[in-house]
Amino acid sequence: MIDFSLEPELIQLKDSVYRYATDNIIPIQEKIQLELDEKEEFAWPIWEKFKEFGLLGFPFPQEYGGQGASALATTIAWEALGLAGVDGGMVMSLSAHTILCGVPLMTFGSEDQKKRYLTKLATGEMIGCFAITEPHGGSDSIHLKTTAVKKGDRWILNGSKLYITNAPIGDLFLVLAATDKSLSSAGITAFLVEKGFKGFSVSRKLQKMGNRLSPTGEIVFEDCEVPEENVLGEVNMGFVQIVRTIFGWERSVMLSPSVGSLETVIKALMAFANNRTAFGKPISYFQAIQKKIVDMKVTLEVARSYLYTIAWHIDRGELPFVEASSFKLFWGDSIVQHIYEAIQILGGLGYMRESKIEKGYRDVRLITIGGGTSEVQRTIVARAILGLSGKEIE
Ligand SMILES: Cc1cc2nc3c(=O)[nH]c(=O)nc-3n(C[C@H](O)[C@H](O)[C@H](O)COP(=O)(O)OP(=O)(O)OC[C@H]3O[C@@H](n4cnc5c(N)ncnc54)[C@H](O)[C@@H]3O)c2cc1C
Repeated sequence: MIDFSLEPELIQLKDSVYRYATDNIIPIQEKIQLELDEKEEFAWPIWEKFKEFGLLGFPFPQEYGGQGASALATTIAWEALGLAGVDGGMVMSLSAHTILCGVPLMTFGSEDQKKRYLTKLATGEMIGCFAITEPHGGSDSIHLKTTAVKKGDRWILNGSKLYITNAPIGDLFLVLAATDKSLSSAGITAFLVEKGFKGFSVSRKLQKMGNRLSPTGEIVFEDCEVPEENVLGEVNMGFVQIVRTIFGWERSVMLSPSVGSLETVIKALMAFANNRTAFGKPISYFQAIQKKIVDMKVTLEVARSYLYTIAWHIDRGELPFVEASSFKLFWGDSIVQHIYEAIQILGGLGYMRESKIEKGYRDVRLITIGGGTSEVQRTIVARAILGLSGKEIE
């Protein structure tokens, strides 16, 4: 028998995160969000609230200061943040810290690395980042130009990484570098780089279209010295083991806040459409409006089931890499279209900053790009279902 019902603890978790965010984060956010969006500044008071609830180390084992949450529980908690309306950029920074940097560390880190770093990510003493994308192109994440060469008991890194979430405020960077270029994806190693390491710098903070509370930057390695005990996982296995695990979470769990947000948007649109009148009746009577809202609702239900299923596979120790790519492809293209239509339903109000939906549109626009573009996801899925060989795209 298949049982699709959520365990009571997960329902309770969703409720408690939603309530916490509604009572403790949203009142602060209402006062500062638009101003910080304009100035492109990180919302430290919201980060403090993430910390207070234990979200910074949510999926980490309890012995390292985490909550020991499963991938499914993390998905549901993150979805509740979106449902409550927590700022997309702040949740993106939280995800880069907890999921992109913390999850691989928790999965592949040595005992010493977990004690040194995971505990500090959990308490917020350190802010985490993940850095694979390079200025020459992020889609081709196999042919890295950043190199790491062993010299005695250190690795010497040279190169740069672009579009790195949290870089301007980051303390710990999970960095991918080529250790044997002749092996392409089988010659990449993951390193844990502290911001204070010799030869490391943040060269600039970037200005963005959306998610503007989340700082993004470029980082540079100039003969950067990394101690050998800071190799994460095995040498040359950084891509094959670690990046594929990261992409699995990034292309599923990490997208759940926007699933929660869509539910909230639909509720707001329903209320609006039932109240706003044109030609003597509520606009909800017009088929053109109904179609947009119904399509959103159908997408929402399909997305949530698909997302939970992928998270469930992750918790079984599987690597639902292709499923995560197909989810991201489906979700990215869908959410961008739906928020575009949400603006349309609101008419002139949708175009105004006060409605906040224009901000939502700027935020979700990233989903078809960050974490691997829709074109790349389509290629991954095509290769899998058509049985094509070749590892040139991940
Ligand atoms: C706000 C933001 C935050 C980010 N955060 C991080 C982060 O924390 N860490 C990190 O490492 N990276 C991060 N990224 C980088 C992100 O993952 C890359 O932008 C993305 O992978 C695309 O790489 P690119 O921008 O270099 O585009 P390119 O790879 O140059 O692609 C340009 C265009 O070519 C298309 N294309 C490329 N190859 C193919 C192909 N084989 N078939 C069809 N089309 C193709 C792409 O789909 C795209 O349309 C972030 C990006 C943004 C915008």
